[in-house]
Amino acid sequence: MKKAYEHEEIEGKWLEKSDDSIYYFDASSDKPPYIIDTPPPYPTGDFHIGNALNWCYIDFIARYKRMRGYEVMFPQGWDCHGLPTEVKVEEIHGTSRHKISTQEFRELCRQLTRGNIEQMKGMMRRLGMSIDWSKEYVTMDDRYKRYTQLSFLKMYRGGLIYQAEHPVNWCPRCETAIAFAEVEYEDRDAYLNYLLFERAGAEKEAEHVEIEIATTRPELLASCVAVAVHPDDERYKTIVEKKLEVPIFEHNVKVYEDESVDPEFGTGVVMICTFGDRQDVRWWKLHNLPLRASIDERGRMTEVARGYVKLSVEECKQKIIEDLDAKGLLKRREGIKQNVGVCWRCKTPIEIISTKQWFVRVKKEEILNAAREIKWYPEHFRIRLENWVESMDWDWCISRQRIFGVPIPVWYCKQCGTVKIAGEEEIPVDPVMTSPEEPCVNCGGTEFEGEKDVLDTWMDSSLTALWAAGWSFNASSGIEYEPVELRPQGHDIIRTWAFYSILRSIALTKKIPWRTILINGMVLGEDGYKMSKSRSNTVSPDYVIQKHGADVFRQWAAIGGAVGSDVQFQWKDIVAASKFMQKLWNILRFAMIHLSDYEKPFFKKEGFTKGKSNLRVVDKWLLSKLNKLILSVTDSMENFKFDEAMKDIRAFAWNVLADDYIELVKSRLYGRSGDEGKESAKYALHEAIKTLSILLAPFVPFYAEEMYSQIAKGEREMSVHKAKWQEVKPDMLDSEAENEGDLIADIVRAVRRYKSERGIPLSAPLGKIEVYVESLDTEDIENATATKVELCKNMSEIKSEGDILDVNGTKVVIIKEVK
Ligand SMILES: [Zn+2]
Ligand SMILES: [Zn+2]
Repeated sequence: MKKAYEHEEIEGKWLEKSDDSIYYFDASSDKPPYIIDTPPPYPTGDFHIGNALNWCYIDFIARYKRMRGYEVMFPQGWDCHGLPTEVKVEEIHGTSRHKISTQEFRELCRQLTRGNIEQMKGMMRRLGMSIDWSKEYVTMDDRYKRYTQLSFLKMYRGGLIYQAEHPVNWCPRCETAIAFAEVEYEDRDAYLNYLLFERAGAEKEAEHVEIEIATTRPELLASCVAVAVHPDDERYKTIVEKKLEVPIFEHNVKVYEDESVDPEFGTGVVMICTFGDRQDVRWWKLHNLPLRASIDERGRMTEVARGYVKLSVEECKQKIIEDLDAKGLLKRREGIKQNVGVCWRCKTPIEIISTKQWFVRVKKEEILNAAREIKWYPEHFRIRLENWVESMDWDWCISRQRIFGVPIPVWYCKQCGTVKIAGEEEIPVDPVMTSPEEPCVNCGGTEFEGEKDVLDTWMDSSLTALWAAGWSFNASSGIEYEPVELRPQGHDIIRTWAFYSILRSIALTKKIPWRTILINGMVLGEDGYKMSKSRSNTVSPDYVIQKHGADVFRQWAAIGGAVGSDVQFQWKDIVAASKFMQKLWNILRFAMIHLSDYEKPFFKKEGFTKGKSNLRVVDKWLLSKLNKLILSVTDSMENFKFDEAMKDIRAFAWNVLADDYIELVKSRLYGRSGDEGKESAKYALHEAIKTLSILLAPFVPFYAEEMYSQIAKGEREMSVHKAKWQEVKPDMLDSEAENEGDLIADIVRAVRRYKSERGIPLSAPLGKIEVYVESLDTEDIENATATKVELCKNMSEIKSEGDILDVNGTKVVIIKEVK
């Protein structure tokens, strides 16, 4: 073995030898299954550090559970559809979705996606992920597309999907409907404009009352359908139920009382427009107001805006303000910060537009109940889901006016407009390309128009758990869905992926999708801020791996922070992990000098295995601590506390094994072959190294494999990743031996400190060491200090003249030289 640990060499060797098939899930196995609903990442081509952290967690669990005797499925899928790829294709090819045919455009999207998937797969392999590649799925492939469309058919027939004209969130730039979850909020500078409204009709002349209304969106004046005030607001008692005239457009609107008006905002009077925001939609429904849509799908003013038609929203706002001002209807303006809903993709402020869309029914109670049935790690993230569910104002809009997505398997009869849903045998289908075989059930017409809209990509990815479990939708088969064991995911997609997955699983199977959800945090840059190109605080896992290896990166992922909390990337953690690898390497090198010929039979012959009576105290001490380590690491792994597990392993290897134990037993190990003291030490050291290789296997798979390959020559399993998790040997837990061993280690440390403080070489013998204690195994102290040790049972008086050390309450007298 070389002196320096070289990660390229070791990791390269085991990458080359790696065999995918050992991670294949065997459905016919007798072992209990442990299925992981792995996130299917969006194939951007960049497997970034946040992904890497998430996948490290998954791999820690997958490897651990396999060793615990579960039949683990760690599948990998790719969630391909959606806007970002469309945008990228337009960018790369200098084209637009309007310039080439839908088919051509989709093919370009697929090409780009395939290339990106290959890149990301390379990174997953390099990181040592124990993925079952035989279970790979790609949502743009026909097999998965069929699955998505099948789920649509089932839910449509079950009355859970419907088409309706309803206000939806709309991005005028992307020209598509979007779901609540795709709306982000940003603070923007805006003006609050105080406009003058007057009493309508006859009252306008009779009593000259002017009402000021403050609004940030004067361009929506044409869409104003009502005005509202708070019922307790004394200022406006006289106008309640009366009518006002909208400035410029001069149509009349009624004044309503409504509890949700904030009397403190503006003048306490609000315009209700169709639609300025979600509150407008609520009021519109509540008071059964008319619809006056003044903004179209491309963000242009409609005929309703009369003189302002065809202007953009911004242009219209400018123009209306000028016109109001000219008419003396603009009282004043003040700057405010406004929380604006924007498109997640392009940051364009969204509009709320009423259009015909497809919706999935959101049954809030069912989802909340399911969320309570699922175990959340950490627990508090369940609240985030609950708050989200409570905040939803309308159903999940699933139709998108885009191209790269699963087509909605629906036609419309050209004669009568009746909806025709594709049959199960017809899917996957692109209804734009084909026609149904059966005529229209309503009018017998045979000409159809295919639905051009595609499905929201969350309609694909919300099925991953059912897909992984191999669930077939076939209720008549009598096979009920069994929730899979684990969903690992980031907290940024609780309101999307977690929410939609629960909704879909309940809708389709009446069961929760998974028993446990494990939420991971985000990776922050060294400066403590979210990583972003503009801050130039990003770190690519690729770069870290090139410099320090995958095992070091994985150690950082384990120890960087508790699961669920955001983890700050710090180079000092990487350096520490790298140093630990070298330390472990030194331990292994030293151990193999003594253990290369290690044979178990010695103990059988000598009767060691019957009990530990022949073991030396220090060896019992190590084994007791080792078994405690197994207990604590196992407990941490069961509770996803990877940071705790890794810290405990490091502390044991570094402090107990390397710094104390090896120093104490060196002499015995170098002793005569067959000596009981030597064999006892070899036994303990072998146990420790082998156990470490097993406990480390989930975290540092390459290194652990190297360690195991050296130490476990005679084992049945040749790979640590097929080995069993280390069992605790209860008879090795020995608090007496631990106390005695601690004292021995403390004394040796104290003597070494004593020597180094006085410039005495560590190997130089002293005169004598007196230890004032009833009994103690002194052999290893003598060896490690090269000095004779005398036990003094009469603890009340100090026998000899020398330097007195207090070692945790035990008196130790050092006589430098014996006269
Ligand atoms: Zn957009
Ligand atoms: Zn028809």
